[in-house]
Amino acid sequence: VQAADAGPFDLLVIGGGINGAAIARDAALRGLSVLLVERDDWAGGTTAKSSRLAHGGLRYLELLEFALVREALEDRERLLTQAPHLVRPLRFVYPIYPEVVAKRTVRLGLWLYDVLSRRKSLPKRGHLSKRAALELVPTLEPARLAGAATFFDGQIQSVERLVVEMVADARRHNATALSRTTVVGLEIEGSGRDRRATGARLRDETGREWAVHAKAIVNAAGCWVDDVLGPLAAGRPPKIRKTKGIHIAVPRFLDVALMVRAKDGRSFFVLPWGDDCIVGTTDTDFGGDARDAVASPAEVAYLVDSARRYFPAAPLDQVRYTYAGVRALVNQPKVSESNVTRRHIVYDHGREEGIAGLWTLQGGKITTARTLAEEVVDFVGRHLGRSELARLHPTRRAPYPGAPAEAWDGFVVRATSEAERELGIDAQAAHRLVSTYGTRWRDVAACGVKPGAAGVAAPAGGPMPCEVAFAVREEDARHVADFMFRRSGFGFAPGGNPDVARVVLSWMAGLLGWDAARQAEEWRLYQGETTHFYVPSPG
Ligand SMILES: Cc1cc2nc3c(=O)[nH]c(=O)nc-3n(C[C@H](O)[C@H](O)[C@H](O)COP(=O)(O)OP(=O)(O)OC[C@H]3O[C@@H](n4cnc5c(N)ncnc54)[C@H](O)[C@@H]3O)c2cc1C
Repeated sequence: VQAADAGPFDLLVIGGGINGAAIARDAALRGLSVLLVERDDWAGGTTAKSSRLAHGGLRYLELLEFALVREALEDRERLLTQAPHLVRPLRFVYPIYPEVVAKRTVRLGLWLYDVLSRRKSLPKRGHLSKRAALELVPTLEPARLAGAATFFDGQIQSVERLVVEMVADARRHNATALSRTTVVGLEIEGSGRDRRATGARLRDETGREWAVHAKAIVNAAGCWVDDVLGPLAAGRPPKIRKTKGIHIAVPRFLDVALMVRAKDGRSFFVLPWGDDCIVGTTDTDFGGDARDAVASPAEVAYLVDSARRYFPAAPLDQVRYTYAGVRALVNQPKVSESNVTRRHIVYDHGREEGIAGLWTLQGGKITTARTLAEEVVDFVGRHLGRSELARLHPTRRAPYPGAPAEAWDGFVVRATSEAERELGIDAQAAHRLVSTYGTRWRDVAACGVKPGAAGVAAPAGGPMPCEVAFAVREEDARHVADFMFRRSGFGFAPGGNPDVARVVLSWMAGLLGWDAARQAEEWRLYQGETTHFYVPSPG
Protein backbone atom coordinates (compact mmCIF):
# COMPACT_ATOMS: atom_id res chain seq x y z
CA VAL A 1 0.00 0.00 0.00
CA GLN A 2 1.52 3.29 -1.04
CA ALA A 3 1.64 6.47 1.03
CA ALA A 4 -0.57 8.16 -1.59
CA ASP A 5 -3.35 5.88 -0.40
CA ALA A 6 -3.89 8.25 2.53
CA GLY A 7 -5.79 10.54 0.15
CA PRO A 8 -7.52 12.87 0.32
CA PHE A 9 -10.03 11.06 -1.85
CA ASP A 10 -13.23 12.59 -3.12
CA LEU A 11 -15.06 9.46 -2.06
CA LEU A 12 -14.45 6.51 0.25
CA VAL A 13 -16.76 3.55 -0.38
CA ILE A 14 -16.96 0.95 2.40
CA GLY A 15 -17.91 -2.57 1.25
CA GLY A 16 -17.03 -4.41 -1.96
CA GLY A 17 -20.33 -6.17 -2.58
CA ILE A 18 -22.41 -5.34 -5.66
CA ASN A 19 -23.55 -1.99 -4.25
CA GLY A 20 -20.16 -0.70 -3.10
CA ALA A 21 -18.52 -1.85 -6.33
CA ALA A 22 -21.25 -0.22 -8.45
CA ILE A 23 -20.85 3.07 -6.57
CA ALA A 24 -17.06 3.03 -6.91
CA ARG A 25 -17.37 2.30 -10.65
CA ASP A 26 -19.95 5.02 -11.23
CA ALA A 27 -17.95 7.63 -9.28
CA ALA A 28 -14.69 6.71 -11.01
CA LEU A 29 -16.34 6.88 -14.44
CA ARG A 30 -17.51 10.41 -13.56
CA GLY A 31 -13.94 11.39 -12.75
CA LEU A 32 -13.99 11.40 -8.94
CA SER A 33 -10.98 10.10 -7.02
CA VAL A 34 -12.27 6.99 -5.29
CA LEU A 35 -11.09 4.57 -2.64
CA LEU A 36 -13.07 1.32 -2.34
CA VAL A 37 -12.32 -0.97 0.60
CA GLU A 38 -13.58 -4.49 1.27
CA ARG A 39 -12.92 -6.40 4.48
CA ASP A 40 -12.86 -9.86 2.89
CA ASP A 41 -12.94 -10.76 -0.79
CA TRP A 42 -14.85 -8.91 -3.52
CA ALA A 43 -18.51 -10.03 -3.46
CA GLY A 44 -17.85 -12.29 -0.49
CA GLY A 45 -20.90 -11.07 1.50
CA THR A 46 -24.59 -11.36 0.63
CA THR A 47 -23.84 -10.72 -3.04
CA ALA A 48 -22.38 -14.23 -3.45
CA LYS A 49 -25.45 -15.90 -1.91
CA SER A 50 -28.31 -14.72 -4.13
CA SER A 51 -30.65 -16.39 -6.66
CA ARG A 52 -28.51 -14.77 -9.41
CA LEU A 53 -31.46 -13.19 -11.19
CA ALA A 54 -31.46 -9.89 -13.00
CA HIS A 55 -35.17 -9.45 -12.63
CA GLY A 56 -37.93 -6.96 -12.04
CA GLY A 57 -39.25 -9.17 -9.26
CA LEU A 58 -42.66 -10.47 -10.35
CA ARG A 59 -43.35 -11.19 -6.67
CA TYR A 60 -42.98 -7.51 -5.77
CA LEU A 61 -46.08 -6.72 -7.81
CA GLU A 62 -48.02 -8.40 -4.99
CA LEU A 63 -46.45 -5.84 -2.63
CA LEU A 64 -47.57 -3.12 -5.09
CA GLU A 65 -43.95 -2.00 -5.55
CA PHE A 66 -44.57 -0.86 -9.15
CA ALA A 67 -41.84 1.80 -9.23
CA LEU A 68 -39.28 -0.69 -7.94
CA VAL A 69 -40.30 -3.27 -10.54
CA ARG A 70 -40.09 -0.73 -13.38
CA GLU A 71 -36.66 0.48 -12.24
CA ALA A 72 -35.40 -3.09 -11.88
CA LEU A 73 -36.67 -4.01 -15.35
CA GLU A 74 -34.74 -1.10 -16.85
CA ASP A 75 -31.59 -2.24 -15.06
CA ARG A 76 -32.24 -5.83 -16.18
CA GLU A 77 -32.21 -4.61 -19.78
CA ARG A 78 -28.98 -2.67 -19.22
CA LEU A 79 -27.30 -5.70 -17.69
CA LEU A 80 -28.33 -7.87 -20.64
CA THR A 81 -26.81 -5.41 -23.12
CA GLN A 82 -23.82 -4.10 -21.13
CA ALA A 83 -22.69 -7.45 -19.71
CA PRO A 84 -23.94 -10.10 -22.18
CA HIS A 85 -21.07 -12.41 -21.19
CA LEU A 86 -22.35 -12.48 -17.61
CA VAL A 87 -26.11 -11.98 -17.90
CA ARG A 88 -28.21 -14.17 -20.20
CA PRO A 89 -31.91 -14.46 -21.00
CA LEU A 90 -33.64 -17.18 -19.00
CA ARG A 91 -37.06 -18.56 -19.85
CA PHE A 92 -39.45 -19.01 -16.93
CA VAL A 93 -42.52 -21.21 -16.74
CA TYR A 94 -45.27 -20.40 -14.25
CA PRO A 95 -47.45 -23.53 -13.99
CA ILE A 96 -51.09 -22.96 -13.17
CA TYR A 97 -52.76 -25.25 -10.65
CA PRO A 98 -56.13 -23.65 -9.88
CA GLU A 99 -56.00 -24.53 -6.18
CA VAL A 100 -52.66 -22.66 -5.90
CA VAL A 101 -53.17 -19.63 -8.12
CA ALA A 102 -55.93 -18.41 -10.43
CA LYS A 103 -55.15 -18.20 -14.13
CA ARG A 104 -56.34 -14.61 -14.33
CA THR A 105 -54.04 -13.56 -11.45
CA VAL A 106 -51.04 -14.92 -13.35
CA ARG A 107 -52.20 -13.35 -16.61
CA LEU A 108 -52.72 -9.97 -14.97
CA GLY A 109 -49.35 -10.12 -13.21
CA LEU A 110 -47.46 -10.97 -16.39
CA TRP A 111 -49.33 -8.37 -18.43
CA LEU A 112 -48.27 -5.75 -15.87
CA TYR A 113 -44.71 -7.09 -15.90
CA ASP A 114 -44.60 -6.62 -19.67
CA VAL A 115 -46.17 -3.16 -19.49
CA LEU A 116 -43.63 -2.04 -16.89
CA SER A 117 -40.69 -3.14 -19.04
CA ARG A 118 -41.01 -0.62 -21.82
CA ARG A 119 -37.79 -0.99 -23.81
CA LYS A 120 -36.77 -4.61 -23.75
CA SER A 121 -34.94 -7.11 -25.88
CA LEU A 122 -36.43 -10.17 -24.15
CA PRO A 123 -39.44 -11.92 -25.70
CA LYS A 124 -42.88 -11.09 -24.33
CA ARG A 125 -44.97 -13.30 -22.07
CA GLY A 126 -46.83 -16.26 -23.50
CA HIS A 127 -49.44 -18.81 -22.47
CA LEU A 128 -49.20 -22.60 -22.75
CA SER A 129 -51.82 -25.31 -22.82
CA LYS A 130 -51.39 -28.20 -20.40
CA ARG A 131 -49.91 -30.33 -23.18
CA ALA A 132 -47.44 -27.68 -24.29
CA ALA A 133 -46.41 -27.06 -20.66
CA LEU A 134 -45.71 -30.77 -20.15
CA GLU A 135 -43.74 -30.94 -23.40
CA LEU A 136 -41.55 -28.09 -22.19
CA VAL A 137 -41.27 -29.40 -18.61
CA PRO A 138 -41.89 -33.18 -18.69
CA THR A 139 -41.06 -33.57 -14.98
CA LEU A 140 -43.97 -31.33 -13.94
CA GLU A 141 -46.82 -32.88 -11.91
CA PRO A 142 -49.62 -33.36 -14.49
CA ALA A 143 -52.54 -33.87 -12.08
CA ARG A 144 -54.71 -30.72 -11.87
CA LEU A 145 -52.32 -28.76 -14.11
CA ALA A 146 -54.44 -26.26 -16.06
CA GLY A 147 -51.72 -24.82 -18.30
CA ALA A 148 -48.84 -22.42 -17.76
CA ALA A 149 -47.59 -18.95 -18.49
CA THR A 150 -44.08 -18.16 -19.72
CA PHE A 151 -41.94 -15.07 -19.44
CA PHE A 152 -38.26 -14.11 -19.57
CA ASP A 153 -35.88 -12.63 -17.04
CA GLY A 154 -32.08 -12.39 -16.87
CA GLN A 155 -29.80 -14.90 -15.18
CA ILE A 156 -26.45 -13.63 -13.93
CA GLN A 157 -24.05 -16.48 -14.60
CA SER A 158 -21.66 -15.17 -11.97
CA VAL A 159 -22.62 -12.23 -9.78
CA GLU A 160 -19.15 -12.53 -8.28
CA ARG A 161 -17.51 -11.90 -11.64
CA LEU A 162 -19.89 -9.01 -12.29
CA VAL A 163 -18.52 -7.39 -9.12
CA VAL A 164 -14.91 -8.21 -10.08
CA GLU A 165 -15.50 -6.53 -13.46
CA MET A 166 -17.01 -3.47 -11.75
CA VAL A 167 -13.85 -3.23 -9.65
CA ALA A 168 -11.67 -3.67 -12.76
CA ASP A 169 -13.60 -0.91 -14.54
CA ALA A 170 -13.32 1.39 -11.51
CA ARG A 171 -9.56 0.78 -11.48
CA ARG A 172 -9.29 1.51 -15.20
CA HIS A 173 -10.76 4.88 -14.30
CA ASN A 174 -8.14 5.47 -11.60
CA ALA A 175 -9.98 4.23 -8.53
CA THR A 176 -7.96 2.61 -5.75
CA ALA A 177 -9.60 -0.65 -4.70
CA LEU A 178 -8.34 -2.62 -1.70
CA SER A 179 -9.73 -5.98 -0.70
CA ARG A 180 -8.82 -7.61 2.65
CA THR A 181 -8.93 -4.14 4.19
CA THR A 182 -11.33 -3.31 7.01
CA VAL A 183 -12.70 0.06 8.06
CA VAL A 184 -12.21 -0.01 11.82
CA GLY A 185 -13.50 3.48 12.58
CA LEU A 186 -14.90 6.60 10.92
CA GLU A 187 -13.26 10.00 11.38
CA ILE A 188 -15.86 12.67 12.15
CA GLU A 189 -15.01 16.32 12.91
CA GLY A 190 -17.15 18.93 14.69
CA SER A 191 -19.91 18.58 17.25
CA GLY A 192 -23.70 18.36 17.55
CA ARG A 193 -25.48 19.01 14.27
CA ASP A 194 -22.40 20.62 12.79
CA ARG A 195 -20.27 17.58 12.05
CA ARG A 196 -18.70 16.21 8.91
CA ALA A 197 -17.12 12.96 7.83
CA THR A 198 -13.43 13.40 7.00
CA GLY A 199 -12.04 9.89 6.62
CA ALA A 200 -11.58 6.52 8.24
CA ARG A 201 -9.07 4.24 9.88
CA LEU A 202 -8.23 1.09 7.93
CA ARG A 203 -6.62 -2.20 8.91
CA ASP A 204 -5.12 -4.73 6.52
CA GLU A 205 -4.68 -8.49 6.98
CA THR A 206 -1.29 -8.07 8.60
CA GLY A 207 -2.84 -5.89 11.31
CA ARG A 208 -1.28 -2.66 10.02
CA GLU A 209 -3.54 0.36 10.62
CA TRP A 210 -3.52 3.72 8.87
CA ALA A 211 -5.80 6.70 8.32
CA VAL A 212 -7.25 7.85 5.02
CA HIS A 213 -8.89 11.18 4.27
CA ALA A 214 -12.03 11.51 2.19
CA LYS A 215 -14.42 14.36 1.47
CA ALA A 216 -17.39 11.99 1.28
CA ILE A 217 -18.05 8.49 2.62
CA VAL A 218 -20.61 5.91 1.58
CA ASN A 219 -21.26 3.06 3.96
CA ALA A 220 -22.21 0.13 1.69
CA ALA A 221 -21.35 -2.61 4.16
CA GLY A 222 -24.62 -4.53 3.72
CA CYS A 223 -25.46 -6.53 6.84
CA TRP A 224 -22.65 -4.73 8.68
CA VAL A 225 -23.63 -1.07 8.11
CA ASP A 226 -24.52 -0.60 11.79
CA ASP A 227 -21.16 -2.08 12.86
CA VAL A 228 -19.33 0.34 10.58
CA LEU A 229 -21.21 3.27 12.13
CA GLY A 230 -20.08 2.06 15.58
CA PRO A 231 -20.70 4.80 18.17
CA LEU A 232 -22.70 6.83 15.61
CA ALA A 233 -25.36 4.10 15.65
CA ALA A 234 -25.69 4.12 19.46
CA GLY A 235 -29.15 5.00 20.75
CA ARG A 236 -30.72 4.77 17.29
CA PRO A 237 -32.81 1.93 15.81
CA PRO A 238 -30.72 -0.40 13.59
CA LYS A 239 -30.60 0.84 10.00
CA ILE A 240 -31.32 -2.61 8.61
CA ARG A 241 -33.38 -5.70 9.27
CA LYS A 242 -31.65 -8.97 8.47
CA THR A 243 -33.54 -11.87 6.90
CA LYS A 244 -31.98 -15.14 5.85
CA GLY A 245 -32.62 -16.88 2.53
CA ILE A 246 -31.25 -20.31 1.65
CA HIS A 247 -30.88 -22.24 -1.59
CA ILE A 248 -30.31 -25.93 -2.26
CA ALA A 249 -28.58 -27.39 -5.33
CA VAL A 250 -29.77 -30.71 -6.77
CA PRO A 251 -28.78 -32.51 -10.01
CA ARG A 252 -30.08 -30.60 -13.01
CA PHE A 253 -33.49 -31.80 -14.20
CA LEU A 254 -34.75 -28.69 -16.03
CA ASP A 255 -33.64 -26.44 -18.89
CA VAL A 256 -36.11 -23.67 -18.14
CA ALA A 257 -36.72 -21.93 -14.82
CA LEU A 258 -39.86 -22.51 -12.80
CA MET A 259 -41.62 -20.06 -10.54
CA VAL A 260 -44.00 -21.76 -8.13
CA ARG A 261 -45.63 -21.29 -4.75
CA ALA A 262 -44.94 -23.19 -1.56
CA LYS A 263 -47.77 -24.40 0.71
CA ASP A 264 -47.45 -21.23 2.80
CA GLY A 265 -48.09 -19.11 -0.31
CA ARG A 266 -44.47 -17.90 -0.76
CA SER A 267 -43.16 -17.93 -4.31
CA PHE A 268 -39.90 -19.73 -4.95
CA PHE A 269 -37.75 -20.61 -7.96
CA VAL A 270 -36.25 -23.73 -9.46
CA LEU A 271 -33.40 -22.48 -11.64
CA PRO A 272 -31.10 -24.37 -14.01
CA TRP A 273 -27.51 -23.33 -13.34
CA GLY A 274 -24.58 -25.28 -14.76
CA ASP A 275 -24.96 -28.96 -13.86
CA ASP A 276 -27.40 -28.15 -11.06
CA CYS A 277 -30.88 -26.93 -10.40
CA ILE A 278 -30.96 -24.30 -7.67
CA VAL A 279 -34.10 -24.24 -5.53
CA GLY A 280 -34.79 -21.20 -3.38
CA THR A 281 -35.39 -19.20 -1.46
CA THR A 282 -36.64 -18.73 2.10
CA ASP A 283 -37.14 -15.54 4.13
CA THR A 284 -36.77 -15.61 7.92
CA ASP A 285 -35.54 -13.01 10.40
CA PHE A 286 -31.89 -13.48 11.29
CA GLY A 287 -29.86 -12.34 14.30
CA GLY A 288 -26.10 -12.62 14.62
CA ASP A 289 -23.26 -12.24 12.13
CA ALA A 290 -24.29 -12.91 8.53
CA ARG A 291 -20.93 -14.63 7.96
CA ASP A 292 -22.14 -17.51 10.16
CA ALA A 293 -25.40 -18.10 8.29
CA VAL A 294 -25.94 -21.67 7.06
CA ALA A 295 -28.97 -23.60 5.86
CA SER A 296 -30.76 -25.45 8.65
CA PRO A 297 -32.17 -28.98 8.17
CA ALA A 298 -35.71 -27.57 8.54
CA GLU A 299 -35.12 -24.98 5.79
CA VAL A 300 -33.69 -27.62 3.45
CA ALA A 301 -36.69 -29.90 4.16
CA TYR A 302 -39.06 -26.98 3.48
CA LEU A 303 -37.58 -26.40 0.01
CA VAL A 304 -37.38 -30.12 -0.84
CA ASP A 305 -41.02 -30.67 0.21
CA SER A 306 -42.23 -27.52 -1.54
CA ALA A 307 -40.53 -28.48 -4.81
CA ARG A 308 -41.67 -32.10 -4.60
CA ARG A 309 -45.31 -30.99 -4.87
CA TYR A 310 -44.51 -29.87 -8.42
CA PHE A 311 -41.79 -32.38 -9.36
CA PRO A 312 -42.67 -35.70 -7.71
CA ALA A 313 -40.00 -37.67 -9.62
CA ALA A 314 -37.13 -35.12 -9.65
CA PRO A 315 -33.88 -35.92 -7.77
CA LEU A 316 -34.72 -33.48 -4.97
CA ASP A 317 -33.35 -35.76 -2.26
CA GLN A 318 -29.87 -35.61 -3.78
CA VAL A 319 -28.89 -32.23 -2.32
CA ARG A 320 -25.36 -31.51 -3.58
CA TYR A 321 -24.76 -28.39 -1.53
CA THR A 322 -26.64 -25.50 0.07
CA TYR A 323 -25.94 -21.84 0.67
CA ALA A 324 -27.44 -19.19 2.92
CA GLY A 325 -27.46 -15.43 2.39
CA VAL A 326 -28.65 -12.63 4.62
CA ARG A 327 -30.59 -9.70 3.20
CA ALA A 328 -29.95 -6.27 4.70
CA LEU A 329 -33.43 -4.82 4.28
CA VAL A 330 -34.76 -1.42 5.28
CA ASN A 331 -35.69 -1.76 8.97
CA GLN A 332 -39.51 -1.94 9.08
CA PRO A 333 -40.16 -3.51 12.50
CA LYS A 334 -43.88 -4.36 12.40
CA VAL A 335 -43.98 -5.94 8.92
CA SER A 336 -43.62 -9.69 8.25
CA GLU A 337 -40.29 -10.84 6.73
CA SER A 338 -41.62 -11.47 3.21
CA ASN A 339 -43.47 -8.16 3.13
CA VAL A 340 -40.60 -5.83 4.07
CA THR A 341 -40.05 -3.41 1.20
CA ARG A 342 -37.34 -4.42 -1.27
CA ARG A 343 -36.69 -0.76 -2.09
CA HIS A 344 -33.45 0.83 -1.04
CA ILE A 345 -33.02 3.96 1.03
CA VAL A 346 -29.90 6.10 0.92
CA TYR A 347 -29.77 7.38 4.51
CA ASP A 348 -28.27 10.87 4.55
CA HIS A 349 -26.54 11.38 7.91
CA GLY A 350 -26.15 15.05 7.02
CA ARG A 351 -29.87 15.70 6.78
CA GLU A 352 -30.90 13.35 9.59
CA GLU A 353 -28.14 13.87 12.16
CA GLY A 354 -26.04 16.81 11.01
CA ILE A 355 -23.06 14.69 9.85
CA ALA A 356 -22.32 16.06 6.37
CA GLY A 357 -20.67 13.86 3.74
CA LEU A 358 -21.81 10.49 5.11
CA TRP A 359 -24.44 8.18 3.62
CA THR A 360 -25.53 4.66 4.63
CA LEU A 361 -27.28 2.23 2.27
CA GLN A 362 -30.33 0.36 3.48
CA GLY A 363 -31.68 -2.45 1.31
CA GLY A 364 -31.09 -2.78 -2.43
CA LYS A 365 -30.85 -5.58 -4.95
CA ILE A 366 -28.21 -6.86 -7.32
CA THR A 367 -30.37 -5.92 -10.29
CA THR A 368 -30.76 -2.29 -9.24
CA ALA A 369 -27.20 -1.69 -7.99
CA ARG A 370 -26.48 0.58 -10.97
CA THR A 371 -29.48 2.84 -10.33
CA LEU A 372 -28.66 2.98 -6.64
CA ALA A 373 -25.06 3.89 -7.44
CA GLU A 374 -26.15 6.64 -9.80
CA GLU A 375 -28.41 8.14 -7.13
CA VAL A 376 -25.65 8.00 -4.51
CA VAL A 377 -23.01 9.57 -6.77
CA ASP A 378 -25.46 12.38 -7.65
CA PHE A 379 -25.67 13.16 -3.90
CA VAL A 380 -21.89 12.99 -3.56
CA GLY A 381 -21.38 15.29 -6.57
CA ARG A 382 -23.68 17.91 -5.03
CA HIS A 383 -21.98 17.59 -1.64
CA LEU A 384 -18.60 18.17 -3.29
CA GLY A 385 -19.98 21.33 -4.93
CA ARG A 386 -19.65 19.71 -8.34
CA SER A 387 -23.26 19.67 -9.39
CA GLU A 388 -22.19 19.38 -13.05
CA LEU A 389 -21.26 15.78 -12.18
CA ALA A 390 -24.84 15.06 -11.23
CA ARG A 391 -25.79 15.48 -14.88
CA LEU A 392 -23.32 12.83 -16.10
CA HIS A 393 -24.67 9.31 -16.02
CA PRO A 394 -22.02 7.20 -17.76
CA THR A 395 -23.14 3.84 -16.41
CA ARG A 396 -26.39 4.07 -18.40
CA ARG A 397 -24.35 3.17 -21.48
CA ALA A 398 -20.90 1.95 -20.46
CA PRO A 399 -20.30 -1.71 -21.30
CA TYR A 400 -18.52 -3.95 -18.80
CA PRO A 401 -14.86 -4.79 -19.50
CA GLY A 402 -15.56 -8.24 -20.99
CA ALA A 403 -18.54 -7.20 -23.15
CA PRO A 404 -18.08 -7.65 -26.91
CA ALA A 405 -19.14 -4.88 -29.29
CA GLU A 406 -20.91 -7.41 -31.52
CA ALA A 407 -23.98 -9.54 -30.66
CA TRP A 408 -23.19 -12.18 -28.03
CA ASP A 409 -24.30 -15.27 -29.99
CA GLY A 410 -22.04 -14.49 -32.94
CA PHE A 411 -19.14 -13.45 -30.72
CA VAL A 412 -19.18 -16.62 -28.67
CA VAL A 413 -19.01 -18.87 -31.73
CA ARG A 414 -16.19 -16.89 -33.35
CA ALA A 415 -14.15 -16.39 -30.16
CA THR A 416 -14.56 -20.04 -29.13
CA SER A 417 -13.07 -21.30 -32.38
CA GLU A 418 -10.25 -18.72 -32.12
CA ALA A 419 -9.45 -19.79 -28.56
CA GLU A 420 -9.56 -23.46 -29.57
CA ARG A 421 -7.16 -22.88 -32.44
CA GLU A 422 -4.79 -20.38 -30.82
CA LEU A 423 -4.49 -22.11 -27.45
CA GLY A 424 -4.71 -25.71 -28.64
CA ILE A 425 -7.50 -26.54 -26.20
CA ASP A 426 -10.69 -28.50 -26.80
CA ALA A 427 -13.94 -26.83 -27.83
CA GLN A 428 -15.55 -27.26 -24.41
CA ALA A 429 -12.64 -25.58 -22.59
CA ALA A 430 -12.55 -22.80 -25.18
CA HIS A 431 -16.29 -22.20 -24.82
CA ARG A 432 -16.01 -22.04 -21.03
CA LEU A 433 -13.10 -19.59 -21.25
CA VAL A 434 -14.96 -17.28 -23.61
CA SER A 435 -18.27 -17.43 -21.78
CA THR A 436 -16.60 -16.72 -18.43
CA TYR A 437 -14.38 -13.81 -19.46
CA GLY A 438 -16.02 -12.46 -22.64
CA THR A 439 -13.54 -10.41 -24.69
CA ARG A 440 -10.98 -10.65 -21.87
CA TRP A 441 -10.32 -14.32 -22.64
CA ARG A 442 -7.15 -13.23 -24.48
CA ASP A 443 -5.90 -11.30 -21.41
CA VAL A 444 -6.47 -14.43 -19.35
CA ALA A 445 -4.70 -16.67 -21.85
CA ALA A 446 -1.81 -14.20 -22.06
CA CYS A 447 -1.36 -14.19 -18.32
CA GLY A 448 2.09 -15.70 -18.28
CA VAL A 449 1.26 -19.32 -17.67
CA LYS A 450 0.41 -21.27 -20.80
CA PRO A 451 -2.68 -23.44 -20.48
CA GLY A 452 -1.57 -26.89 -19.36
CA ALA A 453 2.01 -25.83 -18.52
CA ALA A 454 1.94 -25.79 -14.73
CA GLY A 455 2.98 -29.28 -13.67
CA VAL A 456 -0.08 -30.78 -11.99
CA ALA A 457 -3.07 -30.87 -14.32
CA ALA A 458 -6.63 -30.15 -13.22
CA PRO A 459 -9.24 -32.89 -13.63
CA ALA A 460 -10.99 -32.88 -17.04
CA GLY A 461 -13.26 -29.86 -17.42
CA GLY A 462 -11.39 -28.01 -14.66
CA PRO A 463 -9.67 -24.62 -14.72
CA MET A 464 -6.54 -23.77 -16.67
CA PRO A 465 -3.44 -22.46 -14.89
CA CYS A 466 -3.70 -19.14 -16.74
CA GLU A 467 -7.11 -18.53 -15.13
CA VAL A 468 -5.65 -18.93 -11.67
CA ALA A 469 -2.69 -16.72 -12.60
CA PHE A 470 -5.08 -14.06 -13.94
CA ALA A 471 -7.19 -14.24 -10.76
CA VAL A 472 -4.09 -13.82 -8.58
CA ARG A 473 -2.34 -11.13 -10.63
CA GLU A 474 -5.26 -9.09 -11.90
CA GLU A 475 -8.24 -9.87 -9.70
CA ASP A 476 -6.90 -9.96 -6.11
CA ALA A 477 -7.47 -13.69 -5.46
CA ARG A 478 -5.51 -14.39 -2.26
CA HIS A 479 -7.01 -17.64 -0.99
CA VAL A 480 -8.21 -20.84 -2.65
CA ALA A 481 -11.88 -20.00 -2.02
CA ASP A 482 -11.48 -16.65 -3.79
CA PHE A 483 -10.74 -18.53 -7.00
CA MET A 484 -13.00 -21.54 -6.46
CA PHE A 485 -16.15 -19.60 -5.53
CA ARG A 486 -15.74 -15.98 -6.61
CA ARG A 487 -13.51 -15.90 -9.74
CA SER A 488 -14.78 -19.21 -11.14
CA GLY A 489 -17.71 -21.38 -10.06
CA PHE A 490 -15.67 -24.56 -9.59
CA GLY A 491 -16.27 -24.65 -5.83
CA PHE A 492 -20.02 -25.08 -6.29
CA ALA A 493 -19.98 -28.88 -6.03
CA PRO A 494 -20.21 -31.37 -3.15
CA GLY A 495 -17.51 -30.70 -0.55
CA GLY A 496 -16.32 -27.64 -2.50
CA ASN A 497 -14.89 -29.84 -5.30
CA PRO A 498 -11.76 -30.93 -3.37
CA ASP A 499 -9.99 -32.54 -6.38
CA VAL A 500 -9.98 -29.25 -8.28
CA ALA A 501 -9.31 -27.20 -5.14
CA ARG A 502 -6.13 -29.17 -4.38
CA VAL A 503 -4.75 -28.45 -7.84
CA VAL A 504 -5.68 -24.76 -7.53
CA LEU A 505 -3.93 -24.71 -4.15
CA SER A 506 -0.73 -26.04 -5.71
CA TRP A 507 -0.87 -23.45 -8.52
CA MET A 508 -1.54 -20.61 -6.09
CA ALA A 509 1.33 -21.86 -3.92
CA GLY A 510 3.64 -21.50 -6.95
CA LEU A 511 2.33 -18.03 -7.78
CA LEU A 512 2.30 -16.67 -4.24
CA GLY A 513 5.32 -18.53 -2.82
CA TRP A 514 3.47 -20.53 -0.16
CA ASP A 515 5.63 -23.03 1.74
CA ALA A 516 4.27 -26.36 3.03
CA ALA A 517 3.02 -24.89 6.31
CA ARG A 518 1.21 -22.07 4.51
CA GLN A 519 -0.33 -24.57 2.09
CA ALA A 520 -1.65 -26.61 5.02
CA GLU A 521 -3.11 -23.44 6.53
CA GLU A 522 -4.68 -22.42 3.22
CA TRP A 523 -6.24 -25.89 2.89
CA ARG A 524 -7.69 -25.58 6.39
CA LEU A 525 -9.12 -22.15 5.47
CA TYR A 526 -10.68 -23.58 2.32
CA GLN A 527 -12.31 -26.40 4.20
CA GLY A 528 -13.60 -23.88 6.73
CA GLU A 529 -15.25 -21.89 3.94
CA THR A 530 -16.83 -24.96 2.35
CA THR A 531 -18.68 -25.74 5.61
CA HIS A 532 -20.98 -22.85 4.66
CA PHE A 533 -22.15 -24.91 1.69
CA TYR A 534 -22.84 -28.03 3.70
CA VAL A 535 -25.70 -30.50 3.38
CA PRO A 536 -27.45 -31.08 6.70
CA SER A 537 -27.80 -34.79 7.45
CA PRO A 538 -31.38 -36.09 7.37
CA GLY A 539 -33.19 -35.68 10.70
C1 LIG B 1 -31.26 -15.43 -0.59
C2 LIG B 1 -31.12 -14.17 -1.40
C3 LIG B 1 -31.46 -14.15 -2.74
C4 LIG B 1 -31.32 -12.99 -3.48
N1 LIG B 1 -31.60 -13.02 -4.81
C5 LIG B 1 -31.47 -11.90 -5.55
C6 LIG B 1 -31.68 -11.95 -6.95
O1 LIG B 1 -31.92 -13.01 -7.53
N2 LIG B 1 -31.57 -10.78 -7.64
C7 LIG B 1 -31.26 -9.59 -7.04
O2 LIG B 1 -31.23 -8.58 -7.73
N3 LIG B 1 -31.02 -9.52 -5.71
C8 LIG B 1 -31.09 -10.65 -4.95
N4 LIG B 1 -30.83 -10.61 -3.61
C9 LIG B 1 -30.44 -9.36 -2.98
C10 LIG B 1 -28.96 -9.08 -3.16
O3 LIG B 1 -28.21 -10.27 -3.03
C11 LIG B 1 -28.46 -8.07 -2.14
O4 LIG B 1 -29.32 -6.97 -2.09
C12 LIG B 1 -27.08 -7.54 -2.53
O5 LIG B 1 -26.19 -8.59 -2.80
C13 LIG B 1 -26.52 -6.68 -1.41
O6 LIG B 1 -25.26 -6.22 -1.81
P1 LIG B 1 -24.42 -5.26 -0.87
O7 LIG B 1 -23.25 -4.84 -1.67
O8 LIG B 1 -25.29 -4.20 -0.32
O9 LIG B 1 -24.03 -6.19 0.38
P2 LIG B 1 -22.88 -7.30 0.51
O10 LIG B 1 -22.75 -8.11 -0.70
O11 LIG B 1 -23.11 -8.03 1.78
O12 LIG B 1 -21.56 -6.42 0.62
C14 LIG B 1 -21.20 -5.72 1.78
C15 LIG B 1 -19.70 -5.88 1.94
O13 LIG B 1 -19.24 -5.04 2.99
C16 LIG B 1 -18.10 -5.67 3.55
N5 LIG B 1 -17.81 -5.08 4.84
C17 LIG B 1 -18.49 -5.27 6.00
N6 LIG B 1 -17.91 -4.56 6.99
C18 LIG B 1 -16.84 -3.93 6.47
C19 LIG B 1 -15.84 -3.07 7.00
N7 LIG B 1 -15.85 -2.73 8.29
N8 LIG B 1 -14.87 -2.62 6.19
C20 LIG B 1 -14.85 -2.96 4.87
N9 LIG B 1 -15.77 -3.77 4.31
C21 LIG B 1 -16.77 -4.24 5.10
C22 LIG B 1 -18.51 -7.13 3.62
O14 LIG B 1 -17.40 -7.98 3.73
C23 LIG B 1 -19.30 -7.31 2.34
O15 LIG B 1 -18.54 -7.88 1.30
C24 LIG B 1 -30.90 -11.79 -2.85
C25 LIG B 1 -30.54 -11.81 -1.51
C26 LIG B 1 -30.62 -12.99 -0.79
C27 LIG B 1 -30.19 -13.02 0.64
